[in-house]
Amino acid sequence: MAHSCPPERLQAALDDVVSRMAARVRRGKVADYIPPLAEVDPQQFGIAVALNDGSVHVAGDADAPFSIQSVSKVFSLTLALGQVGDGLWKRVGREPSGNAFNSIVQLEHEKGIPRNPFINAGAIMVADVLLAGHKPRETIGEILHFVRALAQDDSITIDPLVARAEKATGFRNVALANYMKSFGTLDNEPEMVLGVYFHQCAMAMSCRQLAQAGGFLANGGRNPLTGFSVVAPERARRINAIMLTCGHYDGSGDFAFRVGLPSKSGVGGGILAILPGTASIAVWSPGLSEQGNSLLGTDALEFLSRRMGWSVF
Ligand code: GLN
Repeated sequence: MAHSCPPERLQAALDDVVSRMAARVRRGKVADYIPPLAEVDPQQFGIAVALNDGSVHVAGDADAPFSIQSVSKVFSLTLALGQVGDGLWKRVGREPSGNAFNSIVQLEHEKGIPRNPFINAGAIMVADVLLAGHKPRETIGEILHFVRALAQDDSITIDPLVARAEKATGFRNVALANYMKSFGTLDNEPEMVLGVYFHQCAMAMSCRQLAQAGGFLANGGRNPLTGFSVVAPERARRINAIMLTCGHYDGSGDFAFRVGLPSKSGVGGGILAILPGTASIAVWSPGLSEQGNSLLGTDALEFLSRRMGWSVF
């Protein structure tokens, strides 16, 4: 269903969100597992809304690039579905995990098949699928190329400092990949697969670029900027369904309760949220909740969805 959205009303809501968030003292805790994230200024806040008519509306630090981290899992999932279709669901489940994003506990019970493509284990599995028959460098290039095409912006890059730091500290991800390999569910060498995963997490994008890149999910699978079909409408619906149920890890239920939009978070403080039929929304505030989701980003989306009447329910 398309929501009507007069530009002045939307802009007023975005400006209001920015001034409300600027006044907030409790801003959550910035991810500190790698220096490039620990050093990010927690006072920053940006928001961008890309409408299906191709217009983009922004407020705050909407053009500042940040590390998209796990938001990249939406794009790698879309690519993998394009390559292997529904066969992907033999390699990874589609149930919410109820556990932390980097948890290993379910993997033993489920014999190396991750619960869903958005927890780390699942995204590593998706990276394994994308790597088939390629060198890590080629797969990384393919993901970046795809995201640039979606956003219609060739200035998007991978931050090499973040990628290197992910590799230097990613022992848990190494454990997850090795564990899956021990069950025989990962095809490629863990080190190669993780090379892809760490680089996709290190993509740097602004809210404007991210909202543009997510536009196809709001527009029945068609890129609103080019008019070209990215995925079939049914696939866009299904990706949105997984975002709604699994996009915020063990905070997914609370996010659906408060915001009511399919969305995906990352520990860089970014969230991509989709209002099917109308808008792709990107918000960024680096301070995180206990579950590793942007604290103010979630509050801002709750405010915006209420004020604009934007919820899928
Ligand atoms: N690079 C992070 C990790 O692998 C991504 C996690 C996230 O954004 N939730 O731990």
